[in-house]
Amino acid sequence: MNASKIESVVILGGGTAGWMAAAVLAKALGPAVAVTLVESDEIGTVGVGEATIPQIRHLLNFLGLDDRRVLSETDATFKLGIAFEGWRAPGHRYIHAFGEFGLPLGLAPFHHHLRRAQQGGEAGELWDYSLTAQAAYSGRYAQLPRIGDTRIGGIVSAFHLDATRFATLLRRTAEAAGVERIEGRVEAVVKSDETGNVSALTLRDGRRVKGEVFLDCSGFRSRLIGQEMGVPFEDWSAHLPCDRAVAVRSAPGPALRPYTQAMARKAGWQWRIPLQGRVGNGHVYSSAHMSDDEAAAVLTRNLEGEAEGEPRLIPFRTGRRREAWAGNVVALGLAAGFMEPLESTSIHLVQSAVERLVQAFPTGSMEPALCNAYNQRTRTEWERIRDFLVLHYAVNGRAGEPFWDERRSAALPESLERRLSLFRAGGRFFAEESELFTETGWVQVLEGQGVRPEGWAPAANALPEERLRSILANTRNLIGRTAERLPTHEDAVARLTGTDPAALSGDENRA
Ligand SMILES: Cc1cc2nc3c(=O)[nH]c(=O)nc-3n(C[C@H](O)[C@H](O)[C@H](O)COP(=O)(O)OP(=O)(O)OC[C@H]3O[C@@H](n4cnc5c(N)ncnc54)[C@H](O)[C@@H]3O)c2cc1C
Repeated sequence: MNASKIESVVILGGGTAGWMAAAVLAKALGPAVAVTLVESDEIGTVGVGEATIPQIRHLLNFLGLDDRRVLSETDATFKLGIAFEGWRAPGHRYIHAFGEFGLPLGLAPFHHHLRRAQQGGEAGELWDYSLTAQAAYSGRYAQLPRIGDTRIGGIVSAFHLDATRFATLLRRTAEAAGVERIEGRVEAVVKSDETGNVSALTLRDGRRVKGEVFLDCSGFRSRLIGQEMGVPFEDWSAHLPCDRAVAVRSAPGPALRPYTQAMARKAGWQWRIPLQGRVGNGHVYSSAHMSDDEAAAVLTRNLEGEAEGEPRLIPFRTGRRREAWAGNVVALGLAAGFMEPLESTSIHLVQSAVERLVQAFPTGSMEPALCNAYNQRTRTEWERIRDFLVLHYAVNGRAGEPFWDERRSAALPESLERRLSLFRAGGRFFAEESELFTETGWVQVLEGQGVRPEGWAPAANALPEERLRSILANTRNLIGRTAERLPTHEDAVARLTGTDPAALSGDENRA
């Protein structure tokens, strides 16, 4: 039926995006499609991007990379969520833990039942109903998908990993699957006069790399989708005004925390990502509110271990290319756009784009219907993530600081405005198809930052009150007891990597 078939894909860029796309496409499409990747050591990669979300496990499974391999080859640790410190008020913290909370209780989501019980007496708080959250707080980890034979969820995890070593692992996987790597700097791009599509990349030494489909993984340069295809950049900085980061590594701190820290600062926030042998740190800020020198000083003042080198400045623009797929070019990773790493979404956006591309992989010509469907899905996915990030700022409680005051009063995307009013009025939430963050994720941020809805869904009144109270008390107790018995994060990592837990937790730094 398909007279012509796509037989060659050329990927420009060898960062996380390029090598992830190469590994997945080679495995998913098989030897019928030749995958070639061009990268330039001279240009290098962005070198950050160390916190992931649980969906990464689907990709790793698909590529045959188990936990042992990921931990050993990328200096990784487990991640159970993100602790937001100082967002509601200085000194306050909550965690956005992965996975679902509580247990299914009829048709109303769990948080409605909890709110009803909280109204009438002691019922604990939302996070008491998540083993993942409790394990995070107590520095513990185990592979435990479910608590015993109950309906209560177990531990849901992702990884913190070394970005450069992760790209190397993906590269090894891709090359083993037959991907050809070409080292060279692309100096020019050859396009067809007739279709406007890209037909070859010309390297500095004159070599030409021909292909039928081109993936732009060239990072912020956006060499193909932006420069060649002329797809405009949609600027989202009115909603997310942070436009710079300073990043530095440091020696291990006092604990190998199984979660990322996102600590609010005067004009942005600081991340802390614990790896086995070091900590990744960064400070994301708005240059309209803080100078680069001050941002670097804030970062170095707030490290737990000694800095390894000088902070590196990484300017960025928040937003995305209006279309991720144009002609025969599909952009992935930073070439497609960027949103600050507040919820560790960028690597995931690469993953989901590659998966979508595999599903929509053209059979012959670049069918416009496929391209439109792909672009529409991509847009929705990015916009809902944007709304979720904006939410963190919109409901902050840091009164009296200009940056934070502005964020509270800034106009919101209409989609977020609607969602917030629905939640405030009765705790309702309607997720869209293929939306990344679940109701539980949204509710954690809303509750964590002090947004309490006025009531609960009538369906949460179906259970007799005494019965509800006893289910909740049993669930809390079971989760608490299970969390106490889990191995420490250090032990869990050491067991899988065959190292001594003391090497992760026993030196004087970790007292
Ligand atoms: C401050 C910051 C923090 C981040 N933190 C996180 C996080 O915690 N979690 C997360 O998921 N994501 C995070 N990200 C995003 C993450 O780093 C990126 O999504 C990911 O690394 C993918 O980058 P990339 O491969 O698109 O681009 P890059 O790593 O920049 O790679 C670009 C590639 O293109 C090549 N190239 C470019 N031009 C040419 C040319 N002309 N010729 C040949 N080769 C060329 C380069 O050599 C390089 O190989 C963060 C990003 C930033 C900026």
